Amino acid sequence: MGKIDICLVEVGKVDEQTIEIIERNFPIYFNWNIKEIFKLPIPAQSFNPKRKQFHSSTIILFISNSLSKKPCKFVISVTEVDLYVEGLNFVFGEARPDLGVCIISTYRLKPEYYGESKDLKIFERRVLTEAVHEIGHLLNLKHCKDPNCVMFFSNSIFDTDRKGFLFCDRCKIKITEIK
Ligand SMILES: [Zn+2]
Ligand SMILES: [Zn+2]
Repeated sequence: MGKIDICLVEVGKVDEQTIEIIERNFPIYFNWNIKEIFKLPIPAQSFNPKRKQFHSSTIILFISNSLSKKPCKFVISVTEVDLYVEGLNFVFGEARPDLGVCIISTYRLKPEYYGESKDLKIFERRVLTEAVHEIGHLLNLKHCKDPNCVMFFSNSIFDTDRKGFLFCDRCKIKITEIK
């Protein structure tokens, strides 16, 4: 697999540290490179006042439409608000391989969210894990049954912490088959 250029979109206010985590680690662990960074507002229509959460599919569509000239084949967006899709209490992220756009939320990745003390190392690993998972989807990977593979579906932060940000051998092979 050759180098993959990825565009990054900050959706709403996003901590500079979060962006730095992705920008720094993608080229180290994968042959992925953040080519350009954009900033977009959180689309108002994505907010669900009943749930007090934001509909991730609506945000993804908004990003896809806003970047209509498509500066990159793959786009990762990052937000700090809490995301949901129908049928789930929340999502850490979502991907639309058909649009080449994915999103992750840092809302539930901070140890503080779980009543624990601030820990940048833990936060960094979680951001990377969720980001790599969604990029994996953009590369057409489905969920993996290996609980130690990044493509395992995270139901909770325990899943995220256990699996980490690396692909299992089977998923790795599938990725390298992509031209
Ligand atoms: Zn997934
Ligand atoms: Zn796997």
